[in-house]
Amino acid sequence: MTGLTDDKAATMRVADGDRDLFSKFDALIAEREALLATGVRDPFAIVMDQVLSPTRAIIKGKETILLGTYNYMGMTFDPDVVAAGKQALDEYGAGTTGSRVLNGTYQGHKACEDALKDFYGTKHAMVFSTGYQANLGMISTIAGKGDYVILDADSHASIYDGCYLGNAEIVRFRHNSVEDLDKRLGRLPAEAQKLVVLEGVYSMLGDVAPLPEMVAAVRKHPNCMILVDEAHGMGFFGPNGRGVYEEQGVEKEIDFVVGTFSKSVGTVGGFCVSDHPKFEVMRLVCRPYVFTASLPPSVVATAATSIRKLMHASEKRAHLWENSRRLHQGLRDMGFRLGTETPQSAIIAVILTDQTQAVAMWQALLELGLYVNMARPPATPAGTFLLRCSLCAEHSSEQVGEILEMFRQAGRQTGAIAA
Ligand code: PMP
Repeated sequence: MTGLTDDKAATMRVADGDRDLFSKFDALIAEREALLATGVRDPFAIVMDQVLSPTRAIIKGKETILLGTYNYMGMTFDPDVVAAGKQALDEYGAGTTGSRVLNGTYQGHKACEDALKDFYGTKHAMVFSTGYQANLGMISTIAGKGDYVILDADSHASIYDGCYLGNAEIVRFRHNSVEDLDKRLGRLPAEAQKLVVLEGVYSMLGDVAPLPEMVAAVRKHPNCMILVDEAHGMGFFGPNGRGVYEEQGVEKEIDFVVGTFSKSVGTVGGFCVSDHPKFEVMRLVCRPYVFTASLPPSVVATAATSIRKLMHASEKRAHLWENSRRLHQGLRDMGFRLGTETPQSAIIAVILTDQTQAVAMWQALLELGLYVNMARPPATPAGTFLLRCSLCAEHSSEQVGEILEMFRQAGRQTGAIAA
């Protein structure tokens, strides 16, 4: 190999600084180094040494309550889910080593799609290897050159990336603004094909979309289809846990629902469900579905079992809402600034003044034994620094009490709330 350096630890070429494609990241590297030099722990380098349950883990030797996972329904350790995964691993092996359209469709993938069809009451369901790929695949395949994708400015990265991959014209509207959506649709050519992409729950602030009003605005304009990403709504919104679109009664107006197995379902994978009569053609034309390996048999087995159990999870759902309301009220009463006025989902965002305060607060909580997500631009809207708390149906009321106490202590210690 050419270009080897004298550095004994390196087995490949080490860039010499000139003409380095990595130089565009210098500002970010410097910012991180400056932050870490102040002695804080790296919020983006946490390692879970042991995971004890959906709500507890050992991090650097300390037992820690998890309040920063997407394990909303606590399905990761459900005994039936774990048993289904183990059985499939024994019977079908570790992986499929192939695409869904070649050797990578096992009966387990079909069973998982059947579970989704039953859960959503739809004619079609297509499983992707991740939720990211489900958005990437759906959006890029149905909205191509000459089409328009109209999306909320705060949309998830996978939605934006789907637009770029498909080469459609992107039109953004102000976050959750029905008026702006209507206005922007009105400026587009009537004959053009349009895909409106909405999310049930927006994951940074934990706020919910006003879907009936948005659907009404969309229906004033011709040639529009609607896709809703229910990544953070599946499992606990609506009578059947289908998502915000079910809770708000707009099922009949939505063409495609995209979701993920990495949140309420408790494993990994993504999907799209639809009643569109031509939907099955997607299996042939959707590149992020065709040109990647299918999910391992153990994963689809855990997903199918979990999805079927989520059809009968009303008690868990009720407890999750109770946890969410209590945490929201408690944090508000202490004087924290939150992402929403009222608890709208299982996500509660605590907004801090700047990066220094956010990291200090994040670290103080971790030292007390609480893990939350730290989020910063560009992931967050409007340049905010926030701590995202996501609740789990398995958090006990005692744990919610402990969490509130830790927030009180950390908040006073860092000056985020008055002492
Ligand atoms: N959509 C939204 C709204 C998300 O928040 C996420 C993940 N955080 C995804 C899609 C992608 O899901 P996955 O983790 O399955 O790739």
